[in-house]
Amino acid sequence: MKHESLFQDIINKKTPENIIYQDTIVTAFKDINPKAPVHILIVPNIFISSLNEINEKNKDILAHMFSIAIKIAKQKKISKEGYKIIVNCNKNGGQEINYLHMHLLGGKKLNSLY
Ligand code: AMP
Repeated sequence: MKHESLFQDIINKKTPENIIYQDTIVTAFKDINPKAPVHILIVPNIFISSLNEINEKNKDILAHMFSIAIKIAKQKKISKEGYKIIVNCNKNGGQEINYLHMHLLGGKKLNSLY
């Protein structure tokens, strides 16, 4: 699993990655290897390694990640046709980067994963 600093550098604008949205809680940027015409990652600005670290204290971050993903889907005009939001967790879930991130995918018909 890749180290969390990759996404931390994007949040801190140390790398030229394409940030499309940022506020005090989350940052959204384009996936470097897009699987769909729209493929955006939404991450919390504070380090959370995976969904397993979500608890009563920090659970509002997840709600904010969802609300920003939905806002971006509307801005990108993919909401009417539909989209997919995915959060992979650890090895069996296919999580490659050790930093909680939400995938927003759309702009084409996406295959069902199950
Ligand atoms: P996951 O498999 O859920 O951990 O997804 C990790 C995602 O991060 C993949 O879709 C990668 O293409 C993406 N990714 C890896 N490195 C970067 C980067 N530097 N900038 C943007 N996206 C990245």
